[in-house]
Amino acid sequence: MRQVVMHGPGDVRVEDREDPRIVEPTDAIIRLSATCICGSDLWPYRGAEPVEDQVMGHEYVGVVEEVGSDVRTIGVGDFVVGSFWASDGTCEICRAGYQSHCVHRVLMGTIGTQAELARIPLADGTLVATPGLPGPDLIPSLVAASDVLGTGWFAAEAAQAGPGRTVAVVGDGAVGLLGVLAARQLGAERIIAFSRHADRQALARGFGATDIVEERGDDGVARLEELTGGLGAHSVIEAVGTQQAMMQAIRSARPGGHVGFVGVSHDVAVPGDELFLSGVHLHGGPAPVRQYLPRLVQLIWDREIDPGRVFDLTLPLDEAAQGYRAMDRRTATKVLLTPRRPVAPGSPSPTPSPESRRTTT
Ligand SMILES: [Zn+2]
Repeated sequence: MRQVVMHGPGDVRVEDREDPRIVEPTDAIIRLSATCICGSDLWPYRGAEPVEDQVMGHEYVGVVEEVGSDVRTIGVGDFVVGSFWASDGTCEICRAGYQSHCVHRVLMGTIGTQAELARIPLADGTLVATPGLPGPDLIPSLVAASDVLGTGWFAAEAAQAGPGRTVAVVGDGAVGLLGVLAARQLGAERIIAFSRHADRQALARGFGATDIVEERGDDGVARLEELTGGLGAHSVIEAVGTQQAMMQAIRSARPGGHVGFVGVSHDVAVPGDELFLSGVHLHGGPAPVRQYLPRLVQLIWDREIDPGRVFDLTLPLDEAAQGYRAMDRRTATKVLLTPRRPVAPGSPSPTPSPESRRTTT
């Protein structure tokens, strides 16, 4: 099969690798319909994390080709979505809704889903089957659910976004933009997006942002205070992972407010005295996307939400290097990669083709 490998910073190649096989009886093998490049893949690409001959990718949707002898709820031919942590779904942590901290978790990035095929550990706990075989127009949104939408959703819930609340979103990458969408779905009254890029501002407004603030850091906080009567936001989503973004998020929250932080933290150090005096709630980390997948898949299936709009570049898997370049240079927000054979034939489709119900958003 073809698979994306990062040999070193800036050096992405697509290579022939051995097809994955069932290793544990709880595994499944899926044929990828689509995968994508994550903002977090740019950290090693830019040399900010060590990388050497690393398989890449942790976002995936596809059709099940084979299951191990202990797999019960997922079958061959199912179209499935999973998150970037494989999880058993049965341990106490999973049952509490924190599958990204499952005691048996496996990080999908170590398997690499920027490939034609992937082995999915703990298939019953990890994968969610869609109601049928999705039309091609739904696939970008389903891939988005695999990470960026689920992560934005967790951030919005961790920030307690909801009716009557003002939500501020730090970060206008795919996760921040879908945090806006999540806050809108959760009923937030006002959503203030920090962004200085016209195209991302437009997408943020399309997903439900009511206000845009172009300033960053403490200038951004000052502008947000003007917009909120000097109080700050009830809820703040942090979707970057830098020191400036984290402090901007904490300082944007009003006393008693909530910060949901999901940007992968890089050398962030929160001063204890400032945290103590802030009176804000902090919750975040690797998002338990699996918790939200059934709901997100249904919202996408019913065409209530269209998170696939964050993809502004689609490339064949073999051109992955070009996709990394585009995201690194910010000429693309989010890149979708499509393997050569996108969907296996003969998959069951118990519901009628959704094509006829296509509505424009
Ligand atoms: Zn678990």
